[in-house]
Amino acid sequence: MTTKTKDASLVSTKISTGYFCPITHQIIMTNCPFCNLEERVIASNDSANVLLSNPRKTAGHALVTPKRHVEKPWELTNKELQDIFALIWDVEQKLIKAGMGDGVDVRQNYRPFLKQSQLSVDHLHFHVLPRTLRDYIYSVSEKYDTELFADLDDTERAEVTKLLK
Ligand SMILES: [Zn+2]
Repeated sequence: MTTKTKDASLVSTKISTGYFCPITHQIIMTNCPFCNLEERVIASNDSANVLLSNPRKTAGHALVTPKRHVEKPWELTNKELQDIFALIWDVEQKLIKAGMGDGVDVRQNYRPFLKQSQLSVDHLHFHVLPRTLRDYIYSVSEKYDTELFADLDDTERAEVTKLLK
């Protein structure tokens, strides 16, 4: 007779603890760096914060986060979405006006398969990256990006279109 036991390595070890803040009326996750920003916040509105990314990919690389601990982008309220994008557009214009970039990338990575680390924080955030044609990202990475593109075939087009319609 065999006994089935759960493989401990397959059980999620992610333990999150939090507490309710009576001032902001939000759950603060104690192990989340973006719930505990304190002096890192450089701008904010009702429901979102701006901070500088550390580490950063380009000078001026900023992050815009909801104040509330949200991990899945589709869990944002309409108010949070409005506040987040108001800050994104504000930061974007200031960075361009200051000459820190000729353009800006806005990017949100949802990658729950990565373990939280200094380079991967579960608390939803949008990267705002000032860009120029000759910045470091182009020189080490994006100049090779053309090799990533493949022609879209008809079967894939039909399948993905059906899925997303
Ligand atoms: Zn958080």
